[in-house]
Amino acid sequence: MKESQGGADVIVIGGGVVGLAVAREIARRGRRVTIIERGQHPGEGASHAAAGMLAPQSEADTDDSFFQFQVASRDLYPKFAEELRAETGRDIQLDRTGTLYLAFTDEDEQELERRDAWQTRAGLPVERLSAQATRELEPSVSPHVRCALRFPLDWQVETRHLVAALVAAVELFGVNLWTETGASGLRVSSTGHVEGVETERGLLRAGAVVMAAGAWSSRIPFSITESAGRNSSAHTTTPAPHPHVAPVRGQMLCYRHTSIVPFVRHVIYTPRGYIVPRRDGRILAGSTTEHVGYRTGVTVEGVRSIAAHALEIAPAIAGLSFSESWSGLRPRAADEWPLIGASDEVRGLFYATGHYRNGILLAPLTGQLVADVIVDGRTPRLLEAFSPARLRERAHAVSHGE
Ligand SMILES: Cc1cc2nc3c(=O)[nH]c(=O)nc-3n(C[C@H](O)[C@H](O)[C@H](O)COP(=O)(O)OP(=O)(O)OC[C@H]3O[C@@H](n4cnc5c(N)ncnc54)[C@H](O)[C@@H]3O)c2cc1C
Repeated sequence: MKESQGGADVIVIGGGVVGLAVAREIARRGRRVTIIERGQHPGEGASHAAAGMLAPQSEADTDDSFFQFQVASRDLYPKFAEELRAETGRDIQLDRTGTLYLAFTDEDEQELERRDAWQTRAGLPVERLSAQATRELEPSVSPHVRCALRFPLDWQVETRHLVAALVAAVELFGVNLWTETGASGLRVSSTGHVEGVETERGLLRAGAVVMAAGAWSSRIPFSITESAGRNSSAHTTTPAPHPHVAPVRGQMLCYRHTSIVPFVRHVIYTPRGYIVPRRDGRILAGSTTEHVGYRTGVTVEGVRSIAAHALEIAPAIAGLSFSESWSGLRPRAADEWPLIGASDEVRGLFYATGHYRNGILLAPLTGQLVADVIVDGRTPRLLEAFSPARLRERAHAVSHGE
Protein backbone atom coordinates (compact mmCIF):
# COMPACT_ATOMS: atom_id res chain seq x y z
CA MET A 1 0.00 0.00 0.00
CA LYS A 2 1.38 3.43 -0.92
CA GLU A 3 2.00 6.00 1.79
CA SER A 4 0.04 9.19 1.84
CA GLN A 5 1.56 12.62 2.34
CA GLY A 6 0.58 15.00 5.12
CA GLY A 7 2.09 14.19 8.52
CA ALA A 8 -0.08 14.02 11.61
CA ASP A 9 0.55 13.36 15.28
CA VAL A 10 -3.01 12.14 15.73
CA ILE A 11 -5.53 10.71 13.25
CA VAL A 12 -9.21 10.86 14.15
CA ILE A 13 -11.41 8.37 12.29
CA GLY A 14 -14.88 9.87 11.86
CA GLY A 15 -16.03 13.45 11.40
CA GLY A 16 -19.21 13.41 13.48
CA VAL A 17 -19.63 15.72 16.48
CA VAL A 18 -17.50 13.45 18.63
CA GLY A 19 -14.57 13.21 16.19
CA LEU A 20 -14.76 16.94 15.48
CA ALA A 21 -14.86 17.89 19.17
CA VAL A 22 -11.90 15.61 19.91
CA ALA A 23 -9.89 16.94 16.95
CA ARG A 24 -10.56 20.56 17.91
CA GLU A 25 -9.39 20.05 21.47
CA ILE A 26 -6.24 18.14 20.51
CA ALA A 27 -5.34 20.70 17.83
CA ARG A 28 -5.94 23.56 20.29
CA ARG A 29 -3.31 21.94 22.49
CA GLY A 30 -0.74 22.11 19.71
CA ARG A 31 -0.84 18.68 18.06
CA ARG A 32 -1.14 18.10 14.29
CA VAL A 33 -4.42 16.33 13.62
CA THR A 34 -5.98 14.73 10.54
CA ILE A 35 -9.65 13.71 10.46
CA ILE A 36 -10.62 10.94 8.06
CA GLU A 37 -14.30 11.08 7.16
CA ARG A 38 -15.89 8.63 4.76
CA GLY A 39 -18.85 10.85 3.86
CA GLN A 40 -18.96 13.80 1.49
CA HIS A 41 -19.55 16.15 4.41
CA PRO A 42 -18.66 15.87 8.11
CA GLY A 43 -21.57 15.16 10.44
CA GLU A 44 -23.57 13.12 7.92
CA GLY A 45 -23.90 10.20 10.35
CA ALA A 46 -25.94 10.24 13.55
CA SER A 47 -24.90 13.82 14.28
CA HIS A 48 -26.96 15.15 11.39
CA ALA A 49 -30.05 13.31 12.65
CA ALA A 50 -29.98 14.38 16.29
CA ALA A 51 -32.55 16.55 18.03
CA GLY A 52 -29.83 18.37 19.96
CA MET A 53 -31.33 17.98 23.43
CA LEU A 54 -28.87 18.56 26.26
CA ALA A 55 -31.08 16.94 28.83
CA PRO A 56 -29.39 14.74 31.44
CA GLN A 57 -31.95 15.37 34.18
CA SER A 58 -35.15 14.80 32.20
CA GLU A 59 -34.71 11.04 31.92
CA ALA A 60 -32.36 10.25 34.82
CA ASP A 61 -33.43 7.95 37.64
CA THR A 62 -30.13 7.70 39.47
CA ASP A 63 -27.02 9.70 40.31
CA ASP A 64 -24.43 7.37 38.77
CA SER A 65 -21.14 8.05 36.91
CA PHE A 66 -22.97 8.39 33.61
CA PHE A 67 -25.36 10.99 35.00
CA GLN A 68 -22.43 12.95 36.46
CA PHE A 69 -20.63 12.80 33.10
CA GLN A 70 -23.73 14.07 31.30
CA VAL A 71 -24.28 16.94 33.74
CA ALA A 72 -20.61 17.95 33.56
CA SER A 73 -20.76 18.06 29.75
CA ARG A 74 -24.02 20.00 29.73
CA ASP A 75 -22.50 22.54 32.11
CA LEU A 76 -19.65 23.10 29.64
CA TYR A 77 -22.06 24.14 26.87
CA PRO A 78 -22.37 27.89 27.56
CA LYS A 79 -18.57 28.28 27.47
CA PHE A 80 -18.27 25.87 24.52
CA ALA A 81 -20.85 27.90 22.55
CA GLU A 82 -19.05 31.15 23.37
CA GLU A 83 -15.68 29.74 22.35
CA LEU A 84 -17.04 28.46 19.06
CA ARG A 85 -18.60 31.84 18.39
CA ALA A 86 -15.32 33.62 19.16
CA GLU A 87 -13.33 31.18 17.01
CA THR A 88 -15.66 31.00 14.01
CA GLY A 89 -18.30 33.73 14.28
CA ARG A 90 -20.96 30.97 14.21
CA ASP A 91 -23.90 30.74 16.58
CA ILE A 92 -24.77 27.15 17.54
CA GLN A 93 -28.14 28.38 18.88
CA LEU A 94 -27.78 27.14 22.42
CA ASP A 95 -31.33 27.57 23.73
CA ARG A 96 -31.59 27.78 27.53
CA THR A 97 -35.38 27.92 27.88
CA GLY A 98 -35.45 24.51 29.58
CA THR A 99 -37.27 21.19 29.21
CA LEU A 100 -40.75 20.08 30.29
CA TYR A 101 -41.51 16.44 31.03
CA LEU A 102 -45.25 15.74 30.88
CA ALA A 103 -47.44 13.12 32.56
CA PHE A 104 -50.62 11.80 30.90
CA THR A 105 -51.14 8.48 32.74
CA ASP A 106 -50.88 7.05 36.27
CA GLU A 107 -47.52 5.45 35.36
CA ASP A 108 -46.24 8.74 33.96
CA GLU A 109 -47.22 10.51 37.19
CA GLN A 110 -45.43 7.91 39.32
CA GLU A 111 -42.31 8.23 37.16
CA LEU A 112 -42.36 12.02 37.55
CA GLU A 113 -42.86 11.76 41.31
CA ARG A 114 -39.86 9.46 41.70
CA ARG A 115 -37.66 11.67 39.53
CA ASP A 116 -38.75 14.85 41.28
CA ALA A 117 -38.09 13.25 44.69
CA TRP A 118 -34.51 12.03 44.10
CA GLN A 119 -33.42 15.08 42.13
CA THR A 120 -34.85 17.47 44.72
CA ARG A 121 -33.10 15.49 47.49
CA ALA A 122 -29.87 15.72 45.46
CA GLY A 123 -30.25 19.50 45.25
CA LEU A 124 -30.76 19.54 41.47
CA PRO A 125 -32.94 22.25 39.95
CA VAL A 126 -36.37 20.78 39.11
CA GLU A 127 -39.82 22.37 39.35
CA ARG A 128 -43.13 20.54 39.67
CA LEU A 129 -46.00 22.13 37.71
CA SER A 130 -49.75 21.52 37.92
CA ALA A 131 -51.70 20.91 34.71
CA GLN A 132 -52.87 24.52 34.76
CA ALA A 133 -49.39 25.92 35.34
CA THR A 134 -48.05 23.75 32.52
CA ARG A 135 -50.64 25.08 30.07
CA GLU A 136 -50.09 28.65 31.18
CA LEU A 137 -46.42 28.20 30.40
CA GLU A 138 -47.00 26.32 27.12
CA PRO A 139 -50.57 26.87 25.81
CA SER A 140 -50.09 24.36 22.96
CA VAL A 141 -49.73 21.47 25.45
CA SER A 142 -52.69 19.08 25.43
CA PRO A 143 -55.57 19.75 27.89
CA HIS A 144 -55.18 16.08 28.94
CA VAL A 145 -51.86 16.78 30.64
CA ARG A 146 -51.95 15.89 34.35
CA CYS A 147 -48.78 17.55 35.62
CA ALA A 148 -45.20 18.22 34.52
CA LEU A 149 -41.64 18.63 35.69
CA ARG A 150 -39.63 21.58 34.44
CA PHE A 151 -35.87 21.19 34.19
CA PRO A 152 -34.50 24.70 33.77
CA LEU A 153 -30.95 23.53 33.02
CA ASP A 154 -31.84 20.91 30.39
CA TRP A 155 -31.25 22.83 27.16
CA GLN A 156 -30.99 22.26 23.43
CA VAL A 157 -28.66 23.18 20.60
CA GLU A 158 -29.08 23.33 16.80
CA THR A 159 -27.08 20.26 15.90
CA ARG A 160 -26.33 21.13 12.28
CA HIS A 161 -25.05 24.57 13.28
CA LEU A 162 -22.90 22.83 15.87
CA VAL A 163 -21.35 20.58 13.21
CA ALA A 164 -20.72 23.60 10.94
CA ALA A 165 -19.10 25.55 13.78
CA LEU A 166 -16.90 22.61 14.75
CA VAL A 167 -15.78 22.16 11.13
CA ALA A 168 -14.86 25.86 10.93
CA ALA A 169 -13.04 25.62 14.28
CA VAL A 170 -10.95 22.58 13.36
CA GLU A 171 -9.97 24.22 10.09
CA LEU A 172 -8.95 27.30 12.04
CA PHE A 173 -6.71 25.17 14.26
CA GLY A 174 -5.01 23.66 11.21
CA VAL A 175 -6.67 20.23 11.26
CA ASN A 176 -6.55 18.38 7.92
CA LEU A 177 -10.08 17.27 7.19
CA TRP A 178 -10.14 14.51 4.57
CA THR A 179 -13.70 13.85 3.43
CA GLU A 180 -14.74 11.05 1.08
CA THR A 181 -11.91 9.01 2.58
CA GLY A 182 -12.87 5.77 4.28
CA ALA A 183 -10.58 4.12 6.79
CA SER A 184 -10.27 0.48 5.70
CA GLY A 185 -7.79 -0.78 8.30
CA LEU A 186 -5.87 0.10 11.43
CA ARG A 187 -2.19 -0.62 10.92
CA VAL A 188 -0.57 -2.09 14.05
CA SER A 189 3.08 -3.11 14.47
CA SER A 190 4.03 -6.63 15.46
CA THR A 191 4.84 -5.21 18.89
CA GLY A 192 1.32 -3.89 19.35
CA HIS A 193 1.77 -0.17 18.57
CA VAL A 194 -0.57 1.68 16.26
CA GLU A 195 1.25 2.82 13.11
CA GLY A 196 -1.47 4.54 11.14
CA VAL A 197 -4.67 4.15 9.17
CA GLU A 198 -5.15 2.48 5.80
CA THR A 199 -7.35 4.50 3.45
CA GLU A 200 -8.19 4.60 -0.25
CA ARG A 201 -5.61 7.37 -0.48
CA GLY A 202 -2.91 5.12 0.97
CA LEU A 203 -1.48 4.57 4.42
CA LEU A 204 -1.59 7.62 6.68
CA ARG A 205 0.93 7.30 9.48
CA ALA A 206 0.57 8.59 13.05
CA GLY A 207 1.54 7.42 16.50
CA ALA A 208 -1.97 7.97 17.87
CA VAL A 209 -5.36 7.13 16.37
CA VAL A 210 -8.76 8.01 17.81
CA MET A 211 -11.63 5.75 16.82
CA ALA A 212 -14.65 8.05 16.55
CA ALA A 213 -16.53 6.35 13.72
CA GLY A 214 -19.85 6.22 15.58
CA ALA A 215 -21.97 3.15 14.82
CA TRP A 216 -19.23 1.85 12.49
CA SER A 217 -16.46 1.92 15.12
CA SER A 218 -16.06 -1.84 15.54
CA ARG A 219 -15.98 -2.51 11.79
CA ILE A 220 -12.50 -1.23 10.96
CA PRO A 221 -10.17 -4.24 11.18
CA PHE A 222 -6.60 -4.39 12.46
CA SER A 223 -3.85 -5.20 10.03
CA ILE A 224 -0.52 -6.32 11.46
CA THR A 225 2.73 -5.12 9.90
CA GLU A 226 5.08 -7.94 9.00
CA SER A 227 8.38 -6.90 10.57
CA ALA A 228 11.35 -7.09 8.19
CA GLY A 229 13.73 -9.94 8.86
CA ARG A 230 11.42 -11.54 11.39
CA ASN A 231 12.58 -15.02 12.22
CA SER A 232 10.22 -17.94 12.50
CA SER A 233 10.19 -17.77 16.30
CA ALA A 234 8.97 -14.13 16.28
CA HIS A 235 5.49 -13.97 17.67
CA THR A 236 2.80 -11.62 16.45
CA THR A 237 -0.51 -11.45 18.30
CA THR A 238 -3.56 -10.07 16.57
CA PRO A 239 -5.32 -7.75 19.03
CA ALA A 240 -8.70 -8.78 20.38
CA PRO A 241 -11.52 -7.21 18.35
CA HIS A 242 -12.69 -3.68 19.11
CA PRO A 243 -15.32 -3.34 21.84
CA HIS A 244 -18.61 -3.89 20.07
CA VAL A 245 -20.65 -0.87 18.97
CA ALA A 246 -24.05 -1.57 17.40
CA PRO A 247 -26.24 0.72 15.28
CA VAL A 248 -29.66 1.69 16.68
CA ARG A 249 -31.87 3.52 14.21
CA GLY A 250 -33.79 6.62 15.23
CA GLN A 251 -36.28 8.32 12.92
CA MET A 252 -37.29 11.96 13.14
CA LEU A 253 -40.13 14.07 11.73
CA CYS A 254 -40.01 17.80 11.15
CA TYR A 255 -43.02 20.12 11.02
CA ARG A 256 -43.12 23.83 10.20
CA HIS A 257 -44.88 26.54 12.21
CA THR A 258 -45.24 29.85 10.39
CA SER A 259 -46.90 32.17 12.95
CA ILE A 260 -44.68 34.70 14.73
CA VAL A 261 -45.95 33.39 18.09
CA PRO A 262 -43.80 30.34 18.91
CA PHE A 263 -45.68 27.02 18.85
CA VAL A 264 -43.84 25.98 22.03
CA ARG A 265 -40.73 27.42 23.66
CA HIS A 266 -39.48 24.48 25.76
CA VAL A 267 -38.25 21.11 24.65
CA ILE A 268 -41.20 18.88 25.62
CA TYR A 269 -40.90 15.21 26.55
CA THR A 270 -43.12 12.37 27.58
CA PRO A 271 -41.93 8.81 28.29
CA ARG A 272 -42.99 8.05 24.70
CA GLY A 273 -41.67 10.89 22.57
CA TYR A 274 -40.57 14.51 22.39
CA ILE A 275 -40.88 17.71 20.41
CA VAL A 276 -38.10 20.27 20.01
CA PRO A 277 -38.79 23.80 18.73
CA ARG A 278 -36.16 25.47 16.55
CA ARG A 279 -35.74 29.23 16.23
CA ASP A 280 -36.66 29.18 12.53
CA GLY A 281 -40.16 27.76 13.21
CA ARG A 282 -39.34 24.09 12.65
CA ILE A 283 -40.67 21.61 15.21
CA LEU A 284 -38.72 18.34 15.41
CA ALA A 285 -40.54 15.26 16.68
CA GLY A 286 -38.85 12.01 17.66
CA SER A 287 -38.07 9.26 17.76
CA THR A 288 -37.80 5.47 17.35
CA THR A 289 -35.36 2.93 18.83
CA GLU A 290 -34.88 0.20 16.22
CA HIS A 291 -32.39 -2.65 15.95
CA VAL A 292 -32.36 -3.02 12.16
CA GLY A 293 -28.64 -3.20 11.45
CA TYR A 294 -27.20 -0.51 9.19
CA ARG A 295 -30.47 0.19 7.38
CA THR A 296 -31.36 3.88 7.38
CA GLY A 297 -34.61 5.38 6.03
CA VAL A 298 -38.00 6.39 7.33
CA THR A 299 -40.82 3.85 7.61
CA VAL A 300 -44.60 4.19 7.67
CA GLU A 301 -44.65 2.66 11.17
CA GLY A 302 -41.98 5.12 12.34
CA VAL A 303 -43.95 8.08 11.04
CA ARG A 304 -47.16 6.76 12.57
CA SER A 305 -45.74 6.25 16.06
CA ILE A 306 -43.74 9.51 16.19
CA ALA A 307 -46.73 11.52 14.97
CA ALA A 308 -49.03 9.85 17.54
CA HIS A 309 -46.67 10.73 20.40
CA ALA A 310 -46.21 14.29 19.16
CA LEU A 311 -50.00 14.73 18.93
CA GLU A 312 -50.35 13.45 22.49
CA ILE A 313 -48.06 16.29 23.60
CA ALA A 314 -49.67 19.01 21.47
CA PRO A 315 -52.79 18.17 19.43
CA ALA A 316 -52.40 21.39 17.41
CA ILE A 317 -49.48 19.75 15.62
CA ALA A 318 -52.19 18.27 13.40
CA GLY A 319 -52.56 21.71 11.78
CA LEU A 320 -48.86 22.27 11.04
CA SER A 321 -47.34 21.55 7.67
CA PHE A 322 -45.09 18.54 7.36
CA SER A 323 -41.62 19.59 6.32
CA GLU A 324 -39.24 16.62 6.18
CA SER A 325 -38.15 13.37 7.82
CA TRP A 326 -34.86 11.57 8.31
CA SER A 327 -33.15 8.86 10.31
CA GLY A 328 -29.76 8.19 11.87
CA LEU A 329 -27.83 5.33 13.48
CA ARG A 330 -26.98 5.83 17.14
CA PRO A 331 -23.74 4.13 18.25
CA ARG A 332 -24.57 1.82 21.16
CA ALA A 333 -22.19 -0.22 23.35
CA ALA A 334 -23.56 -3.27 25.17
CA ASP A 335 -24.20 -1.40 28.44
CA GLU A 336 -25.29 1.81 26.67
CA TRP A 337 -22.45 3.86 28.18
CA PRO A 338 -19.82 5.50 25.97
CA LEU A 339 -16.39 3.98 25.33
CA ILE A 340 -13.78 6.65 25.99
CA GLY A 341 -10.06 6.24 26.59
CA ALA A 342 -7.01 4.19 25.68
CA SER A 343 -7.22 0.70 24.23
CA ASP A 344 -5.78 -1.98 26.52
CA GLU A 345 -4.81 -4.01 23.44
CA VAL A 346 -3.04 -1.59 21.11
CA ARG A 347 -0.77 1.20 22.30
CA GLY A 348 -1.59 4.50 20.68
CA LEU A 349 -5.22 3.57 19.94
CA PHE A 350 -7.95 5.52 21.72
CA TYR A 351 -11.73 5.21 21.59
CA ALA A 352 -14.27 8.03 21.61
CA THR A 353 -17.43 6.24 20.61
CA GLY A 354 -20.60 4.52 21.80
CA HIS A 355 -22.29 7.79 22.77
CA TYR A 356 -25.66 6.25 21.84
CA ARG A 357 -28.46 8.73 22.62
CA ASN A 358 -26.24 11.47 24.04
CA GLY A 359 -23.40 12.26 21.65
CA ILE A 360 -24.38 15.88 21.17
CA LEU A 361 -24.63 16.40 24.92
CA LEU A 362 -21.35 14.59 25.61
CA ALA A 363 -19.20 16.01 22.78
CA PRO A 364 -17.56 18.93 24.66
CA LEU A 365 -16.45 16.87 27.65
CA THR A 366 -15.41 13.91 25.49
CA GLY A 367 -13.17 16.26 23.48
CA GLN A 368 -11.51 17.60 26.61
CA LEU A 369 -10.97 14.24 28.29
CA VAL A 370 -9.58 12.51 25.19
CA ALA A 371 -7.16 15.43 24.78
CA ASP A 372 -6.17 15.04 28.46
CA VAL A 373 -5.33 11.40 27.81
CA ILE A 374 -3.50 11.84 24.50
CA VAL A 375 -1.80 15.22 24.88
CA ASP A 376 -1.31 15.46 28.63
CA GLY A 377 -0.85 11.72 29.21
CA ARG A 378 -3.23 11.56 32.17
CA THR A 379 -6.51 9.68 32.57
CA PRO A 380 -8.98 11.81 34.53
CA ARG A 381 -10.91 9.89 37.21
CA LEU A 382 -14.18 10.80 35.50
CA LEU A 383 -13.16 8.46 32.65
CA GLU A 384 -12.68 5.33 34.71
CA ALA A 385 -16.29 4.19 34.35
CA PHE A 386 -16.10 4.53 30.55
CA SER A 387 -12.95 2.53 29.92
CA PRO A 388 -13.16 0.64 26.60
CA ALA A 389 -11.80 -2.46 28.37
CA ARG A 390 -14.71 -2.67 30.79
CA LEU A 391 -16.97 -4.78 28.57
CA ARG A 392 -14.28 -7.38 27.99
CA GLU A 393 -13.44 -7.45 31.71
CA ARG A 394 -17.12 -7.89 32.55
CA ALA A 395 -17.54 -10.68 30.00
CA HIS A 396 -14.42 -12.37 31.42
CA ALA A 397 -15.74 -12.07 34.99
CA VAL A 398 -19.08 -13.59 33.96
CA SER A 399 -17.47 -16.48 32.08
CA HIS A 400 -15.31 -17.22 35.16
CA GLY A 401 -18.27 -17.01 37.52
CA GLU A 402 -16.84 -14.03 39.46
C1 LIG B 1 -32.98 10.47 15.81
C2 LIG B 1 -31.82 10.77 16.75
C3 LIG B 1 -31.97 11.73 17.73
C4 LIG B 1 -30.92 12.04 18.59
N1 LIG B 1 -31.08 13.02 19.50
C5 LIG B 1 -30.06 13.35 20.33
C6 LIG B 1 -30.19 14.41 21.25
O1 LIG B 1 -31.22 15.07 21.33
N2 LIG B 1 -29.13 14.71 22.08
C7 LIG B 1 -27.96 14.00 22.01
O2 LIG B 1 -27.05 14.30 22.78
N3 LIG B 1 -27.81 12.99 21.13
C8 LIG B 1 -28.82 12.64 20.29
N4 LIG B 1 -28.69 11.62 19.40
C9 LIG B 1 -27.46 10.82 19.44
C10 LIG B 1 -26.34 11.51 18.69
O3 LIG B 1 -26.77 11.85 17.41
C11 LIG B 1 -25.13 10.57 18.61
O4 LIG B 1 -24.79 10.07 19.89
C12 LIG B 1 -23.92 11.34 18.06
O5 LIG B 1 -24.25 12.00 16.87
C13 LIG B 1 -22.76 10.38 17.82
O6 LIG B 1 -21.74 11.15 17.22
P1 LIG B 1 -20.49 10.42 16.58
O7 LIG B 1 -19.59 11.49 16.09
O8 LIG B 1 -19.96 9.41 17.53
O9 LIG B 1 -21.13 9.56 15.39
P2 LIG B 1 -21.58 10.01 13.93
O10 LIG B 1 -22.21 11.34 13.93
O11 LIG B 1 -22.36 8.87 13.37
O12 LIG B 1 -20.20 10.17 13.18
C14 LIG B 1 -19.40 9.05 12.84
C15 LIG B 1 -18.72 9.40 11.53
O13 LIG B 1 -17.79 8.38 11.20
C16 LIG B 1 -17.80 8.24 9.79
N5 LIG B 1 -17.25 6.94 9.47
C17 LIG B 1 -17.79 5.71 9.68
N6 LIG B 1 -16.99 4.75 9.24
C18 LIG B 1 -15.89 5.35 8.73
C19 LIG B 1 -14.71 4.88 8.10
N7 LIG B 1 -14.48 3.58 7.91
N8 LIG B 1 -13.81 5.79 7.69
C20 LIG B 1 -14.01 7.12 7.87
N9 LIG B 1 -15.13 7.63 8.44
C21 LIG B 1 -16.06 6.74 8.87
C22 LIG B 1 -19.25 8.39 9.41
O14 LIG B 1 -19.39 8.75 8.05
C23 LIG B 1 -19.72 9.46 10.37
O15 LIG B 1 -19.66 10.78 9.82
C24 LIG B 1 -29.71 11.31 18.49
C25 LIG B 1 -29.55 10.37 17.49
C26 LIG B 1 -30.59 10.09 16.61
C27 LIG B 1 -30.39 9.08 15.53
